[in-house]
Amino acid sequence: MKTTRSSSILGFLSLVLALCAPPPATFAWGPHGEITRAAQEVLPEREKAAAYFGSEWRRLQDYSVMPDWRNSVRDDFFPNDFLLWPSVPTHIQHMMPEVAATYTPYFRRALQALRTETPPNAARWIGSLIHYVEDSGAPCHAKPIKGEMHKRLENWLDGKAVSIAGYQPRLLGNDDASALRGLLDRMKRLVAFSKQRAENIYAKVEALQQREDQPVILDCADESARAVADVLHTLFTLALTPPLPPSLAGHVTWPANVPLPKQPAKVMFLGTGYSTLTDTNGAWSFQKLPAKNPRVAIERYGAGTAIVKAADCASVTLPPTDPPGNLVRNGDLKLRWLAANTPDFWAAIPASQKLKGWESDSIRVRSNVVYRVGVADPQPGVRYGVRWRSSTSSAKTVSTNIVWSADIAERELPATSYAATAQLLVLTDKPLTNAVRRVWLVPSQ
Ligand SMILES: [Zn+2]
Repeated sequence: MKTTRSSSILGFLSLVLALCAPPPATFAWGPHGEITRAAQEVLPEREKAAAYFGSEWRRLQDYSVMPDWRNSVRDDFFPNDFLLWPSVPTHIQHMMPEVAATYTPYFRRALQALRTETPPNAARWIGSLIHYVEDSGAPCHAKPIKGEMHKRLENWLDGKAVSIAGYQPRLLGNDDASALRGLLDRMKRLVAFSKQRAENIYAKVEALQQREDQPVILDCADESARAVADVLHTLFTLALTPPLPPSLAGHVTWPANVPLPKQPAKVMFLGTGYSTLTDTNGAWSFQKLPAKNPRVAIERYGAGTAIVKAADCASVTLPPTDPPGNLVRNGDLKLRWLAANTPDFWAAIPASQKLKGWESDSIRVRSNVVYRVGVADPQPGVRYGVRWRSSTSSAKTVSTNIVWSADIAERELPATSYAATAQLLVLTDKPLTNAVRRVWLVPSQ
């Protein structure tokens, strides 16, 4: 194992490649929360839902932004944990036609969450589903249209005016199969509604010199709210029952002083799509859990992953990370619940980055703090590095990639003055687990 070098020597000895990536385009239908609120207000089961979800019922308006939070690090959870599971192991685009691939799996996942998980978990999965429903009704997503006109066609409306008072939500089906067929038909009609209106107002809106809210865009937001009301009414008709006694429950303990103390742990049945997050104290439960795999994986940010037999999952203590203080989620690459061939919380680097290899999920870092960055057992030719980012979501993100050869397996590097998050990079043509055995990013003492 190789030595740690100071960053000044390091700069002299190693290949440092820094580049500013183009900012990712962000597209967000202005009034997600308002559309969700308007749909909630007309639901026949709104009182029952408010009682079931408690304070999470109001937060559904925030959770309907969930897919726009992808890859970010929140204090209370990782949005990716409500966006990715074995049926959808990588993110799906939010515009037509790609967004249509979200309806069936996210509807199924939301139903599963209502039937088997706690209300906070269910609220967040429902938030992810209705985001894609709402996006599909944005004129610029339905058409689809990019660039400056995209921004106008989803923001030039008064979000507070979204209202479908008096609308009676329609049941999309009496059972799961017919509801899924009804959902696809409902979405086809929503997309056609908003696509036609995008075409009708395009030239007029393009000619405007400054913002002017468009009643036609408000019509699209209202129609999106009607579709969300139909979806929520159907989900609740099929699966909203008062919480049952848990059929399986447990408690996770993690090392003291882990970062992000409000983060939960994640419990996954390997080989199945069943998973849930604990509360902030480590308690978790399932109700009516169907067939389950005999092996359960449990992980938490700042702790190691435990893989145990289902019979032993009621009380699990997570090990410390290796090395201690490692901030890389799944830094030992052992957790592979999402896909058999890629460790969870890792993804192929997008082609736009002009680097070939793998990037970790985002890690919260502090600017100017010195971090130790390293890889264990790198194969010949592997390079590794870090990407500092000023944000994980804003269009104004500043981003720098720094890449080294793996001749020296650990380096020290101060985070840039703008760094808010970091991603570990492993550059290789090989599957990640064939390139290195373990990776880390640890604040230096
Ligand atoms: Zn979106």
